[in-house]
Amino acid sequence: MDVRAKKALGQHFLTDQSIAKSIVDALAQDSEVPGVLEIGPGMGVLTKYLLQREDIDPVMIEIDKESVDYLLTHFDGIEGKIIEGDYLKLDVTGLFEGKYRVIGNFPYNISSQIFFKILEDKDRVPEVVCMIQKEVADRIAERPGTKVYGILSVLLQAWYDIEYVLSVGPGAFAPPPKVKSAVIRLKRNSRTELGCDEKLFKTVVKTAFNQRRKTLRNALKPLLKEGADTTDPVFDLRAEKLSVEDFIALTALLS
Ligand code: SAH
Repeated sequence: MDVRAKKALGQHFLTDQSIAKSIVDALAQDSEVPGVLEIGPGMGVLTKYLLQREDIDPVMIEIDKESVDYLLTHFDGIEGKIIEGDYLKLDVTGLFEGKYRVIGNFPYNISSQIFFKILEDKDRVPEVVCMIQKEVADRIAERPGTKVYGILSVLLQAWYDIEYVLSVGPGAFAPPPKVKSAVIRLKRNSRTELGCDEKLFKTVVKTAFNQRRKTLRNALKPLLKEGADTTDPVFDLRAEKLSVEDFIALTALLS
């Protein structure tokens, strides 16, 4: 029997096999990093193709007991590879030797939190392939100067090159979600450090976008020290105009 879809867990099961295969194929052939973490395998539509790949040694994390039981009864040799639990609380430290990659049709309600958690481990995660809500994918992949460019775009683009893989309509899922979906691929860029305080960089980006309609001079007021010099023309701009490099320069100005 199939798993009963639970809305609260963001369960929309992909039923289109050719799309499932394309998603797994989007993960590069890379025998250097066999460890792959699949977030939210559900009934295993991606897992099936992951298990077929010689270069991949997957581990699955799934919060839903019913899905875990389903996977255990439908896939041979999966015991020991599947963890029942919440990815957001998972300690990945000892799970893989060194680096690992991430794949998943993410639960859309927590996709931003998933990305923030991946960013915390960015130096161990060279590649991510995931399906998310199309609107979020557009935002992440967007360039500066557009309305949807935001916090996740800057923080992810600072460390990853983002590639739009494909769009997926609601009909490819059971039950169909209300929104369109898209698959993106994140590949770690060569940046090893920002050249400015990383914590302050995150704070600056978040603060600037939280009041995105204000100029940076006003939006960043809470971060400015007494009598801080804001004559630099960058302070006349709004957050959405700034590239990753601009935010790095701005952070340096503020520290
Ligand atoms: N990969 C499957 C299921 C996608 S739906 C498919 O493509 O069909 C999202 C899956 O994530 C569900 O199975 C859901 O139970 C699981 N999930 C939701 N929140 C989770 C969390 N915090 N940690 C791990 N898995 C989670």
